Amino acid sequence: MTRYGLDDQLWRELEDEVLELFTALLRIDTTNGNETAAARVLQAYLAEHGIAAELRGELPDRQNLVARLDGAGPGPTLTMMGHLDVVPADAGEWSVPPFSGTVRDGYVWGVGAVDMKNQVAAEAVALARLKRSGARFAGTVKYAATADEEVGEFCGVKWLCEHEPDALRADYCLNEGMGGLWLPVDGRKVFLLAVGEKAFAQFRIRTRGRGGHASVPEKEHSAVIDLARAVTALGLADPPTIVSATTARFIDALVTDAALAARLKDPVTARAAGAELRRIDPMAARLVEPLFGATPTPTMLAAGQAVNVIPTRAEACVDCRILPEMTHADVEAHVAATLDPLGIDWEFEWVDVTMPNSSPPASPLADSIARVLRRDVPGTVLVPMTSSSFTDSRWVREAFPDCVAYGFAPFVAESLRDLDGGRDHEPDERIHVEDVVYQALFFERLVRDLLA
Ligand SMILES: [Zn+2]
Repeated sequence: MTRYGLDDQLWRELEDEVLELFTALLRIDTTNGNETAAARVLQAYLAEHGIAAELRGELPDRQNLVARLDGAGPGPTLTMMGHLDVVPADAGEWSVPPFSGTVRDGYVWGVGAVDMKNQVAAEAVALARLKRSGARFAGTVKYAATADEEVGEFCGVKWLCEHEPDALRADYCLNEGMGGLWLPVDGRKVFLLAVGEKAFAQFRIRTRGRGGHASVPEKEHSAVIDLARAVTALGLADPPTIVSATTARFIDALVTDAALAARLKDPVTARAAGAELRRIDPMAARLVEPLFGATPTPTMLAAGQAVNVIPTRAEACVDCRILPEMTHADVEAHVAATLDPLGIDWEFEWVDVTMPNSSPPASPLADSIARVLRRDVPGTVLVPMTSSSFTDSRWVREAFPDCVAYGFAPFVAESLRDLDGGRDHEPDERIHVEDVVYQALFFERLVRDLLA
């Protein structure tokens, strides 16, 4: 029996190699720090295979590991990267200790199992296999296992872009970010390719009113009542709808009902059609609806210090993400259009603002990904999309405008439905063994195809 072109023996050898490195990384607690310990594990592994990797960074315990492998001749450069830090986990909510790297029931369990020590390990194994086989490719592969993605953004990829740009500079870059997940559609496997990501446009709304003793109600100019009205209006209003060319392609790939797809692609009917899609296929709706424009979502409220005092001010924080096709001014305009008619006294303030960015969806890298995937997993379709979450690809695109940076690590055994929408940042984070083993094979084959 062969799996993805490997016979049993070769597959088992690959599996042993991937799992040994992967579980070693999972056993190191890199909760928002301590990445150096994990970087040293990778450094030792790569050294065993003749690849000299170096530590670079701002803080001794938060180093980034960088390495490069030159091919047999000149050619383009591909950077394969991934972050080593993970988010906090509550061991009480887990079925296994979260830093045990347990292999059980066909899965590898641990914080970082899908976000994203899997990809970090798979890329390292791909690099080692290329080196061992004599590296018969043209160009250069760079590798970076980085710190500080989940919180700080100061000593990881952003730092490397500023202080060690040569470690990452490339024509192509592969990273995390929803890409590689797939949905079954009409017997085909529709794989997501993350070509861009949304930006933060988080803001605060403050209302002011008349204070006083709460025994005398204030209905005309109450900061609290006015804030409640503002939050309700912002939470329920649909911002102006846009359907970008990328989103339209995405809808065509995901929605088989042609009439519904047409309604989803028309900005006039898109919102109502989104609600329709939610009833038929909630998973597809969760992917499509946030791509229709800004997503103002009230999350935090604050007012008052005592139950018997009417406060003079109240405020709400609103999370909001915007698409690469939008500007922050679009958000300000929507907020004004929503709140002005209420006749309340309100102020607006930005909380966190980043710039959206994206890479062209058509490129030699996209072609290579599609080719390798089609060869190994028949019946696949690759469809570009904009990811709703933040990744380090943002810094790479900013620092190297000509670099095509995508999020992609293929899950072949489990679909997005099997993953119930994704397992990152959740208790019992785990990955199917076949998925992480195939990822190593995929990255190796991708290099051979792209840098042929
Ligand atoms: Zn991540």
